[in-house]
Amino acid sequence: MSALDVLRRVFGYDEFRGSQQEIIEHVIGGGDALVLMPTGAGKSLCYQIPALVRPGTAVVISPLIALMQNQVDALRELGVRAGFINSTLDPDERRVVEAEFAAGELDLLYLAPERLAGQGTLRMLERGRIALFAIDEAHCVSQWGHDFRPDYLGLSMLHERWPDVPRIALTATATTATHQEIATRLGLTEARHFVSSFDRPNIQYRIVAKQDPRRQLLEFLRGEHRGEAGIVYCLSRNSVEKIAEFLKDNGIPALPYHAGLDDRIRAGNQSRFLREDGLVMVATIAFGMGIDKPDVRFVAHLDLPKSIEGYYQETGRAGRDGEPSVAWLAYGLQDVVQQRKMIDTSEGDAAHRRNLSQHLDAMLALCETVECRRARLLAYFGQELGKSCDNCDTCLAPPESWDGTIAAQKLLSTVYRLHRERNQKFGAGQCIDILLGKKTDKVVQWHHDELTVFGVGADLREAEWRAVIRQLLAQGLLAVEGDYGTLVLTDGSAEVLGRRRPVMLRREPERPVSVAKTAKTARQREAAELPAEVAPVFEHLRAWRAATAKEQGVPAYVIFHDATLRQIAAERPESLEALATVSGVGESKLAKFGSQILSALAEVS
Ligand code: ADP
Ligand code: ZN
Repeated sequence: MSALDVLRRVFGYDEFRGSQQEIIEHVIGGGDALVLMPTGAGKSLCYQIPALVRPGTAVVISPLIALMQNQVDALRELGVRAGFINSTLDPDERRVVEAEFAAGELDLLYLAPERLAGQGTLRMLERGRIALFAIDEAHCVSQWGHDFRPDYLGLSMLHERWPDVPRIALTATATTATHQEIATRLGLTEARHFVSSFDRPNIQYRIVAKQDPRRQLLEFLRGEHRGEAGIVYCLSRNSVEKIAEFLKDNGIPALPYHAGLDDRIRAGNQSRFLREDGLVMVATIAFGMGIDKPDVRFVAHLDLPKSIEGYYQETGRAGRDGEPSVAWLAYGLQDVVQQRKMIDTSEGDAAHRRNLSQHLDAMLALCETVECRRARLLAYFGQELGKSCDNCDTCLAPPESWDGTIAAQKLLSTVYRLHRERNQKFGAGQCIDILLGKKTDKVVQWHHDELTVFGVGADLREAEWRAVIRQLLAQGLLAVEGDYGTLVLTDGSAEVLGRRRPVMLRREPERPVSVAKTAKTARQREAAELPAEVAPVFEHLRAWRAATAKEQGVPAYVIFHDATLRQIAAERPESLEALATVSGVGESKLAKFGSQILSALAEVS
């Protein structure tokens, strides 16, 4: 069978997307490939189709142990012979899979990377015929990256032991540094590189000033994502627990996920999130690599991510199905203070700290930009958008920038005078009270009302002063130190105080524009798109799918995606031949579910 035949007959899709065809033909021809493609672009087919076309078994190395079962289930629904070996199998189960492999009865074998460290696995692999090696989540080989897996470093030996077997490494991490590191560490010297555009046009990017994060989150969820599945990221385990509780108390079905939870509970929560509709996962970044749930409608960050790479990966988990989704981040002064402190106290040498600092600075620049967020994001990955995107907060409601030089001078001279005249250091709160001329207990106690700067900042509100400080920190014109986040001057501060440097600041919108105020939830949008007579048919098919998925113990999307059901509802095919033309209906699913679908269609008039 040709690659195109496999695409049509097994997967039920009409045509290849982007550079899939080129990649697939290259690997079928025996070439090595390094594939950089954003989440949801269709990386899996790039090794699954060569697996079916080339003789032998494709060995897929993946760190996503918890997802292997799902991936294998999904392939089996398509009639593909797939199996996996990882630590969740007992010895008997493992022997069955090994025997299937040796007998040439598997098209794909998923392996956890630590398996390859053992001689047993290598000997087992030598007993079968290997079609290709696919190294998924290949950025895990990068030591500076955010998902480093030591076992990945050993993968370069695959080529030494099996020099004639093609290798394809895949990742959704796009920075040039990571890209080069993957090539070097995996020894992919001859590989062809395939780099796709990293734009995800269906994801709307929004970054808001953090005021009352819980209330803001609740408004976001209730206003725009009622009943929808999504992920809320927090920095600490403790805040994960608290936010999950808070959401539950407010009637939103939420589950916690972090590395401190008992293994069984954690795995159970992940599996519920994948299988059930409309759950919100509140998680640390321990959650999510490779989460292939297609209908995650939002990714919310309640704390500032440590780098743009991490942020882009995390937000990329929204909208794999291509439907409208939102990436929402609430960010404030406290985030900057906290992250700077974490860097200052982090282990590792000066170079390591500098590296962390650079990552943070890039993230801060993204938060404070008055330009298109998407353009900034792509520029970070060395790609150009060429226009503004019309689907981020700064494009939809352009923020103004204002000349903040005088405000900056007032703030900086407060810090300066406290230090110079009193030999004191204070945090943001006290400085703002001084500027606003507030006679709080703490101000009176320290006689700060006698400073010449007392009350000189009454022209701005407290929130505006916080924004000024936040942006000065982001621009390096002010710094924080110590456990209490006290403010201190930098070299840059001197330039501002000496009037040698103007300061442009971003104006916070009065009320953060709820860009999607008028946007409906995805379900409502879907329903609205469907003609009135089609909607009930779609709902009926969804109900059939939910029952079938439950019966088979697989997530609903493994049976059929929404897009496939929608097309079936709209076209109402009356024969198996007609049903076979729908995108996403391959031969195996046609044989398995075809007549059930036709009778389900006959049930709705
Ligand atoms: P990635 O691994 O790059 O995040 P996946 O391989 O999970 O993406 O693919 C994302 C979705 O797109 C999947 O549901 C997949 O079935 C679908 N898909 C991939 N290639 C095609 C294609 N050529 N035509 C239609 N759908 C496709
Ligand atoms: Zn934009």
